[in-house]
Amino acid sequence: MTPLIEARNLSVTFAIRREGQMPWAAPKQLQAVKDVSFTLNAGETLGIVGESGSGKSTLARALIRMLPATGKVLFAGTDLLTLPPAQMLARRADIQMVFQDPFASLDPRMTVGQIVAEPLRTHYPHLSAAEVKARVQVMMDRVGLLPNQINRYPHEFSGGQCQRIGIARALIVEPKVLICDEPVSALDVSIQAQVINLLADLRRDFGLAMIFIAHDLSVVKHISDRVMVMYLGKVMEDAPKADLFAAPQHPYTQALLSAVPIPNPAAERAKKMIALEGELPSPMAPPSGCVFRTRCARAQPLCAQQVPALLGGSRAVACHFPGPDTAAQG
Ligand code: ADP
Ligand code: MG
Repeated sequence: MTPLIEARNLSVTFAIRREGQMPWAAPKQLQAVKDVSFTLNAGETLGIVGESGSGKSTLARALIRMLPATGKVLFAGTDLLTLPPAQMLARRADIQMVFQDPFASLDPRMTVGQIVAEPLRTHYPHLSAAEVKARVQVMMDRVGLLPNQINRYPHEFSGGQCQRIGIARALIVEPKVLICDEPVSALDVSIQAQVINLLADLRRDFGLAMIFIAHDLSVVKHISDRVMVMYLGKVMEDAPKADLFAAPQHPYTQALLSAVPIPNPAAERAKKMIALEGELPSPMAPPSGCVFRTRCARAQPLCAQQVPALLGGSRAVACHFPGPDTAAQG
């Protein structure tokens, strides 16, 4: 079966100019995404986690060519990165995105109806005004908004409701893939579960594949089939959810997992937190070899010399010394 999306060696580099730098001086390079490969099958949800700055949003944007990237993004076998603009626009209807900041991602001068209708007008310009309105109202109802709120403005809605507007806008063109970039990070905890449950329902009803980005493993646990862990632009581990949560192989995954609360109080008390040593290194000057080594309790001289390859197929880990965390098990 051809995967719906297959990213191969995707990399994104930003040129950084410091303030006051002479225009002829070469800018510094910041590689925000390095050699990322993964597959997403139809109907599957891939969770992507990693602390802030690990390249998750850059990766999401590169997939839909909101940022220039190198490598390949195969969508049903066709490389999006080399498609002529007109064909890319047609494909954009199939891959829609929901953004982190519900207020910033909605134009404050547009009504909800105009916001939700925008992708329809772009991709289906022949639709009549009445048809557009009817479809918008059906979609508003579907995401839990009242169809009679169609003429309201974003500032009249709560954060959770704004995220529902963003979801309606993304789904109105019936995409095959929905990329959600930290869709609940800006919301109160009490609202987060409502929005995640809504996305889970919509995914089932629309037969969607999803990429669900979060900085926290607990947020992706419920909704993901697979989870990919990123650190400083690189994939550390990529595995079916059950395997990743039951037996994480990478020390970074183990540290992230140790921060997820366990509902059973006795197990929660017995659990050891794995603290990450030191600070996230500057992405402008990443460590040699394994980028995680400066914060890794397992690091050996080899880790500074050689970049570990992501090995293991569907249960992959990029570590010279992968395996269960024996220290944490005491
Ligand atoms: P995440 O979403 O995981 O928090 P990002 O993809 O936003 O990470 O950022 C990854 C790295 O790329 C960070 O070091 C960030 O500062 C840098 N970065 C992101 N966008 C830009 C940009 N437009 N110009 C320069 N650097 C950027
Ligand atoms: Mg981000």
